[in-house]
Amino acid sequence: MAKIGFIGLGNMGAPMAANLLRAGHSVRGFDLSPAASAAATDLGLDLAASATEAVSGMDIVITMLPAGKHVAACYADILPAAKAGTLFIDCSTIDVGAAQSAHAAAAAAGMASVDAPVSGGVGGAQAGTLTFMAGGAEAAFAQAEPILTAMGKKIVRCGEAGAGQAAKVCNNMILGISMIAVAEAFVLGEKLGLTHQALFDVASTASGQCWALTSYCPVPGPVPASPANRDYVPGFAAALMLKDLNLSQDAAAASGAQTPLGAHAAAIYRKFAEHEAGADFSAIIKAVRDGTAE
Ligand code: NAD
Repeated sequence: MAKIGFIGLGNMGAPMAANLLRAGHSVRGFDLSPAASAAATDLGLDLAASATEAVSGMDIVITMLPAGKHVAACYADILPAAKAGTLFIDCSTIDVGAAQSAHAAAAAAGMASVDAPVSGGVGGAQAGTLTFMAGGAEAAFAQAEPILTAMGKKIVRCGEAGAGQAAKVCNNMILGISMIAVAEAFVLGEKLGLTHQALFDVASTASGQCWALTSYCPVPGPVPASPANRDYVPGFAAALMLKDLNLSQDAAAASGAQTPLGAHAAAIYRKFAEHEAGADFSAIIKAVRDGTAE
């Protein structure tokens, strides 16, 4: 069993770290926020007094932080404090360039590294059913895989450094666009006199089928577990969808890819998040319905 330092014990990090503990690993965590630290303690996690203390003497260091700038600052702090050869796994969702910089900083300090962002949300983090999309050298991935297995049900190596983040922004661009498409279809159906259930029964088994419809339906009724049934309490907040769509647009600009629908989806979520950042992203149907999604 591995000795693991876990930095960033927020909504995702704390339950992920708790699953590592449950799998028999030795885990020492750290978070800057007193509230997050208290919640992590309630889950049975041991906390260090600083990030450097959390990583000292560990075999593996996992980070689960808000954005690229946090990962860069944290790595600058903790890389010198870890023992040579420690494996660094960053599970945060950050831009591809920042992920590659983090890999380079780790390599310069003599550490192996993997970028391994996740899909599956807080529910998946708690249940240990996340999907990990990983980037990095084959040997580093081989070392990371059994650790990630304690927190997820599907682990995919997507390629070299940054490839996990690349897969994440591509996947979530599909999700943002398809949620708006599904919302538009339900609002059009309402205008045409269709019941939600009738449209769902057809589209969920026909060529309109997609995850936003069948697992996360934006109207109440057809999919009882979807946030639409509990007044759009997230789930996956619109602010996080906007973050991921912005990352996809940064990646498109940097790589020269044309993503006109991704750009439009980002603009729609940007406007929506001015007022509804904390609502689930499927609540975009309210903006479609009231004519403010443009
Ligand atoms: P969160 O804000 O709940 O947690 C982040 C934590 O990092 C906070 O507790 C914060 O105090 C801590 N932190 C920031 N800088 C730190 C530092 N230098 N040292 C120690 N702690 C530090 O966010 P979250 O929802 O847990 O998301 C974490 C990451 O996972 C993000 O990149 C997010 O995009 C991604 N993600 C989130 C979800 C989701 O549904 N919440 C789903 C998939 C991916």
